[in-house]
Amino acid sequence: MTSHTAEPAEPPLDLVLVGHGMVGQRFLEAWTEQPGARRGRVTVLAEEPRPAYDRVHLSSLFEGRTPEDLTLCPPGFLAEHGIDLRLGDPVTAVDRAARTVTTRSGARLRYDALVLATGSAPFVPPVPGRDAAGCHVYRTIEDLDAIRADATKAAVAGGGTGIVVGGGLLGLEAAGALRAMGLTTHVVEFAPRLMAVQVDEGGGELLRRKIEELGVTVHTAAAASGVATGPDGAVRGLLLADGRELAADLVVFSAGVRPRDRLARDCGLAVGPRGGIVVDECCRTEDPAVLAIGECAQAADGRVYGLVAPGYQMAETAARELAGRPGPGFTGADTSTELKLLGVDVASFGDPHGTAEGALDVLYSDGRLGVYRKLVIGSDGALLGGVLVGDTDAYGTLRPLATAGRPLTVPPGQLVLPAGSAAAGPVALPDDAVLCSCHNVTQGAVRAAVREQGGGSVAEVKKCTRAGTGCGSCLKQLTTVVTEELAAAGTEVGTGLCEHFPQSRAELYEIVLVTGITTFSALVDRHGTGEGCDICKPTVASILASLSNGHILDGEQAALQDSNDHFLANLQRNGSYSVVPRVPGGEITPDGLIAIGEVARDFGLYTKITGGQRIDLFGAGVDQLPAIWARLVDAGFESGHAYGKALRTVKSCVGETWCRYGVQDSVGLAIELELRYRGLRSPHKLKSAVSGCARECAEARSKDFGVIATSAGWNLYVGGNGGMTPRHADLLAADLDRGTLIRTIDRYLMFYIRTADRLERTSVWLERLDGGLDHLRAVVLDDALGIAAELDALMARHIDSYQDEWAATLADPDRLRRFASFVNAPGTPDPAVTFVPERGQIRPARPDEDGHALPVPVPAPAPVLVAGPRLEVLAK
Ligand SMILES: Cc1cc2nc3c(=O)[nH]c(=O)nc-3n(C[C@H](O)[C@H](O)[C@H](O)COP(=O)(O)OP(=O)(O)OC[C@H]3O[C@@H](n4cnc5c(N)ncnc54)[C@H](O)[C@@H]3O)c2cc1C
Ligand code: SF4
Repeated sequence: MTSHTAEPAEPPLDLVLVGHGMVGQRFLEAWTEQPGARRGRVTVLAEEPRPAYDRVHLSSLFEGRTPEDLTLCPPGFLAEHGIDLRLGDPVTAVDRAARTVTTRSGARLRYDALVLATGSAPFVPPVPGRDAAGCHVYRTIEDLDAIRADATKAAVAGGGTGIVVGGGLLGLEAAGALRAMGLTTHVVEFAPRLMAVQVDEGGGELLRRKIEELGVTVHTAAAASGVATGPDGAVRGLLLADGRELAADLVVFSAGVRPRDRLARDCGLAVGPRGGIVVDECCRTEDPAVLAIGECAQAADGRVYGLVAPGYQMAETAARELAGRPGPGFTGADTSTELKLLGVDVASFGDPHGTAEGALDVLYSDGRLGVYRKLVIGSDGALLGGVLVGDTDAYGTLRPLATAGRPLTVPPGQLVLPAGSAAAGPVALPDDAVLCSCHNVTQGAVRAAVREQGGGSVAEVKKCTRAGTGCGSCLKQLTTVVTEELAAAGTEVGTGLCEHFPQSRAELYEIVLVTGITTFSALVDRHGTGEGCDICKPTVASILASLSNGHILDGEQAALQDSNDHFLANLQRNGSYSVVPRVPGGEITPDGLIAIGEVARDFGLYTKITGGQRIDLFGAGVDQLPAIWARLVDAGFESGHAYGKALRTVKSCVGETWCRYGVQDSVGLAIELELRYRGLRSPHKLKSAVSGCARECAEARSKDFGVIATSAGWNLYVGGNGGMTPRHADLLAADLDRGTLIRTIDRYLMFYIRTADRLERTSVWLERLDGGLDHLRAVVLDDALGIAAELDALMARHIDSYQDEWAATLADPDRLRRFASFVNAPGTPDPAVTFVPERGQIRPARPDEDGHALPVPVPAPAPVLVAGPRLEVLAK
């Protein structure tokens, strides 16, 4: 097919766009940037009832985002550019001879240029029963609403199994959504492995294992042969070609997509052998007045792209073409993808299956850690492609290397080994490597933007190059390159928290402190830009909580929190929650032990003593949390903040009261410290311990602040850490009396909260602190910065305003409303959370085990007993 780049030279007077999806909206944005675009009239005819939205993040609607959050059409955009958008009125016919389109409502519009951006439709295999009630597809917001309604109905009726037909990218997205709604979830895939297009056998195996560990049952090499229906005509199960029937309340077909090319076929335009409106490099069809872009088009390289980035490139090509400014044209695109599916990181780039002649694989696999990396190396030593499962951190470097297409300058082993291993090391990308494949921006262009266009931060470089504004998978690499380039130019590297705040966390803390701002929206309005993101929202929430101690589930605060804070409990691997009451200093009375034991027994919870000297109760459903806490609060317990970035425990040994070696009352001090600092929100969790003598039975030197008794008083240690990067704490001050000790800890904690970075433990903060331990001593002991009085006052305010979050939650019906597995059916337990007995308690059921869900719904919020121990039910 020939290209029509020569015509028309003038932008069209009447431009009609059919379809207002992701690519349609991108076309409008690109079109409005063209000189002369305002001359003509633009009409958009859309089938869906709402303007374009971010389909890629459709599943986030199940994580609390709203349809408004997903909108792609900025307020005022259409009016500003005089665009006439007609929603819910799809085009039904195109008359190419008359250059008109007709819509479902009967409207007839003339066009000088017509752009088809009608996307794809989900493919539903032609199996009997596929139209039964309870059968769904997964493409639009309305599809999700329908799935949600059926899932809730099934849960209320005591059922709740959903089957997804298709184990590709979209199928796993849908499975994630079903699981998030609490359905027992199955995936049925025809191919022998999941994501067969993107992932090889080894990666597919690991992906399957990880997904099954989350409780989703995977059936590979299994073909759906029909939908079984009940007497009411609704779904009862899915029939497989091998004769099995899987029981189900709903079925979601997600077995690929087909280009929506019907309009083009009907008006005699050519379509590809597997569908897709045939276009040339300029996105024109064989009729020069008709263009096609996005998933409905078969590109000049003969491929139909099912990803958004190639669609965006086509949109920009078409806009330039219509404005008479043809550019390089669309000749094909990189289909690399990086995704998080059901919480599992998966990336695939270049030629993941090594189809090129002479290609060889370099593999690294660690089943223990759940990491798989495969690189495909060509016979000339160039990186051709690869697959990453479990850890995709290297994707930002590997994908551009694969597109560069030249022999590697480092041994491939260096690229697959985990960071930190002896042979692994940093890799330099060539300047022509494409960093952002959504907008085709090379590393060289990013460096030039910093050097020549004065891009002084990642946000500015994003604005002038558009790199990082598509799928976002290149952001990490983009940040590295911008930082390197700024450092090379001797410019100070921006320490902004994220693209919404140019300030660091510490600077934001100062702003909140000085201005007294109490809401995220006020802070972002006055000192930031945009709507916020997953980085700045929880960080600001933590700062606000540190400074105001308001209830974290109140008003706007609730939406900012990390996931554990949402339910004031810790989410566990099978979707249940753990409950940890505070046991200050690890001291507990027999009555307290009995009360916790009774709660655990009555609610059938698994109990375990933690390393922080308290008792963790596992296996609670969201609906049970208020009733469990009502009992615990009644017995005198309060929140242990195990879910928050806050003080966890102050552990202690028995000290001089009982121990022959002890020289001070370590338990008494630990209790005093724990009650003083409980509920103190900080950049990261805080742990502490007090030992009664130098034998250090409480392991105080592995804590953020630890105290060891001496015969003359107390030694204070700071910046210790256990975990992945252990660090012995440093001695800050020796032989302190109790009053000085407590005042010094007050200031140390407040100085840390004020100056640390987001998610920075005290150990890392101390190593980073300018002047290190000596500076810290000068600040907290000698008041070198003149802020000691302020730090003391802040701590006093925290102590005075402390309230137990759980007691306050139980007292407020508004806060309690969120504790429901199903928002539409409060009191309905989550049937996907199942258990089996083990060693006299419960544990989460594995995918191959027939576990039992919570047998009796626990009404919230009254303190009620669940009838009968759960174990008895399980044993039946
Ligand atoms: C759940 C999900 C997850 C995804 N995840 C990713 C991902 O991680 N990465 C990625 O790259 N891609 C992903 N995709 C694919 C991505 O959403 C598509 O590539 C992208 O939406 C294509 O844009 P489009 O404008 O061509 O089609 P669409 O966004 O589908 O828009 C087409 C629009 O045209 C309308 N239309 C159709 N016919 C007519 C007519 N006759 N008249 C008027 N209007 C009409 C349709 O109703 C629709 O609104 C995902 C898709 C889904 C469903
Ligand atoms: S740290 Fe000292 S006081 Fe505490 S239990 Fe051990 S030996 Fe006894």
